[in-house]
Amino acid sequence: MLSNKLAKAINKQINAEFWSAYLYLSMSVDANANGHKGVANWFFIQYQEEMDHARIFINYLLSRGARVELMPIEEVKTSWKTPLAAFKDTLEHEQKVTAMINELCGIAAEEKDFASSSMLKWFVDEQVEEEENAKDIIDSLEKVDDSKLGLYMIDKELAARTYTVPAPLSAK
Ligand code: MG
Repeated sequence: MLSNKLAKAINKQINAEFWSAYLYLSMSVDANANGHKGVANWFFIQYQEEMDHARIFINYLLSRGARVELMPIEEVKTSWKTPLAAFKDTLEHEQKVTAMINELCGIAAEEKDFASSSMLKWFVDEQVEEEENAKDIIDSLEKVDDSKLGLYMIDKELAARTYTVPAPLSAK
């Protein structure tokens, strides 16, 4: 049986994952409107991944017989001055998500809920990747320093990102 405390915290996390999805969809739409189709593609895939994260937590609560509570999703920002500004917001946001995942791990450990710790391990690793990805793109964008050609090249690179189903969902 999942404790009420952990179930509540996971429900909060589900909302945070949907909020993340909404944020990245907003970044994707904004980038598209500004003619950065590769950036828009990158953020659209990011949006899909966040929806997947929410689903993984939903599936987990259901499999443990806990109640899923879908709460209202707060509004998100709708425009960014440059792709660099959007990626800086991304990194900052992912650092917050990492802290939330760590918080969940702390509760699971406290309660000796090893099944939850095992489920959360995937998210711990995922967050390392999320932060590294955002950081790498920020580094590239800072290197080209607002040059149009540089931005064009990076946009092409980001256009190549493709979606893959995350392991916890593909196993189902
Ligand atoms: Mg996420």
